[in-house]
Amino acid sequence: MKVHLKALGCRLNEAELEQWSQEFRSAGHQIVPSAPDADVLVLNTCAVTSDASGKSRRLMHRLYRENPEARLVVSGCYATLQADEVAEAIGVDLVVPNTEKDRLPQTVMQRFELPLMPAMATEPGETPLFMRGRQRAFIKIQDGCRYRCTFCIVTVARGDERSRSETEIIAEINALQQQGAQEAVLTGVHVGGYGSDIGSSLYTLVQKILQETDIPRLRFASVEPWDLPDDFFALFSNPRLLPHMHLPLQSGADSILRRMARRCKTAEFASLVAEARRAVPGFNVTTDIIVGFPGETEAEWDETCAYVESVGFGHMHIFTYSAREGTKAARLPDPVPEPVKKQRSQVLHALGERMKQGFLQEQVGKSVPVLWEYARENPDGQRIYTGYTPNYYKVVVTVADNALLENRITQTRLHGVNVCDGVLQGSLENEI
Ligand code: SF4
Repeated sequence: MKVHLKALGCRLNEAELEQWSQEFRSAGHQIVPSAPDADVLVLNTCAVTSDASGKSRRLMHRLYRENPEARLVVSGCYATLQADEVAEAIGVDLVVPNTEKDRLPQTVMQRFELPLMPAMATEPGETPLFMRGRQRAFIKIQDGCRYRCTFCIVTVARGDERSRSETEIIAEINALQQQGAQEAVLTGVHVGGYGSDIGSSLYTLVQKILQETDIPRLRFASVEPWDLPDDFFALFSNPRLLPHMHLPLQSGADSILRRMARRCKTAEFASLVAEARRAVPGFNVTTDIIVGFPGETEAEWDETCAYVESVGFGHMHIFTYSAREGTKAARLPDPVPEPVKKQRSQVLHALGERMKQGFLQEQVGKSVPVLWEYARENPDGQRIYTGYTPNYYKVVVTVADNALLENRITQTRLHGVNVCDGVLQGSLENEI
């Protein structure tokens, strides 16, 4: 059978697609890059904002239009929160809620009586990871969250915390490495909570991955800035664990963090970042900030800007608050007027850009191993590759002889900053 997989939203959705493609392939089915060629279409939806739900709905309809003959399977947060609406939608043959998505391939094969053909599994072919133009493998380590941040619908859509076993995670990383992956990215909803339900911890898991796999690069996706095990940053003494963490702060004012029901206040957050930077000089911390949370006063806003400047971030994802139906925050009073939100977002973007340029300049002169991911051609026909440093700064290099660098790690001299694009310019030293 030919299966086409599509995901919207977060890296966890991408990681689930990775898992499913491995399972369909080991059952002898083929993963195809385009919907019209498929017998089964699988969509992993997102509902983090109302916009995201709208995008999921439109993509669901588009997949059906592109291939009305195929079986259409819809999973993910939108399909979980609006299960009836999705089940009644034209062309949808199966809805798999988040609590059952770890078994999605088996459910699909049973429901549609797809034959199991393990022999076919050995068929050579481009691995789904690279077929999707990706060099980094997102690995789901856990799902769900015990917390109830007032703006968050994810905790509602994904339910309680549940960790995958260490053995399963290590096996998946080894399988992906055998297929050529050079970097694994650990992802989940509340990564810091890993192991709380199976008598393990994030510390133990990372330690075991570094011991029981040879993956050259191990990275974290987004990690809530609490519940991290003691001595966590000692793990970064192993250079395979890359010195970058995305720690969502959301606001720099404790009064707002209280209204958000966030577990980490500004003082704890600052000491966490300081600990990371003590563990590895040049440790890059990036973050998320919500602008215009209900009731955000001018004073709270000034507090956020001053705090962000005092901590310093390599990059900030800045979200303008929009009420999400089904969350507590959507019922909070004193919405911030749109023009004020817009103006504050512009101020924070400018601050973010200034900080980023500062951190980029600090990288100049260093020699670091870069994993090259994709290429484009400049007007002169030269090939320009893009990759990331261990501490997650984007680097470009022009290769004269049209060399192929996809998925290769080279020692790279960082010799400048392209201020407009906010990327580092590098020159190749030697292959690693
Ligand atoms: S910790 Fe993260 S996933 Fe959990 S409720 Fe808060 S924002 Fe949502």
